Amino acid sequence: MTTDPIDRAGLGPRFWERKPLTKMNQREWEALCDGCGKCCLNKLEDEDTGEVALTCVACRLLDDENCRCTQYDIRHQFVPECIVMKPGNIDDHAYWLPQTCAYRLLWEGKPLYDWHPLISGTPDSVHAAGISVQGRTVSEFETPIEEWEDYIIEEPS
Ligand code: SF4
Ligand code: SF4
Repeated sequence: MTTDPIDRAGLGPRFWERKPLTKMNQREWEALCDGCGKCCLNKLEDEDTGEVALTCVACRLLDDENCRCTQYDIRHQFVPECIVMKPGNIDDHAYWLPQTCAYRLLWEGKPLYDWHPLISGTPDSVHAAGISVQGRTVSEFETPIEEWEDYIIEEPS
């Protein structure tokens, strides 16, 4: 079993069903991330309609194998535009988050899926369920932005 890079130990049983997002502490908030890596794929947003298309062009810091940011703690030195999701800004960002993202699901009042590491007890279940971007991305460095339209994909779900 792969070691979970997110410390989910000792959190209250099914805390996400009892606490609203705005009441969660930092550890609970961080533990909601399932590690799918989908939010680290570049997106194309239609300025007129607001429609968001997902591409398989990954952020330069994403590890395509474990679907984690390779420089999470200092990522803004390299990717200043990376958004820090917080209880206070989820309303602004939920629309572009992946359909299966735990933050979006809870924001929409939906339950988490059984493959979520908080329920399954292992980060491997996200990959096994085919939800993550593992092995599905192309490099931002090798894919010019003018070509991103050719790399639009359906969200893995
Ligand atoms: S889409 Fe949501 S659950 Fe998946 S890695 Fe991003 S923040 Fe975490
Ligand atoms: S900087 Fe890290 S967390 Fe932000 S989009 Fe890139 S890979 Fe994801």
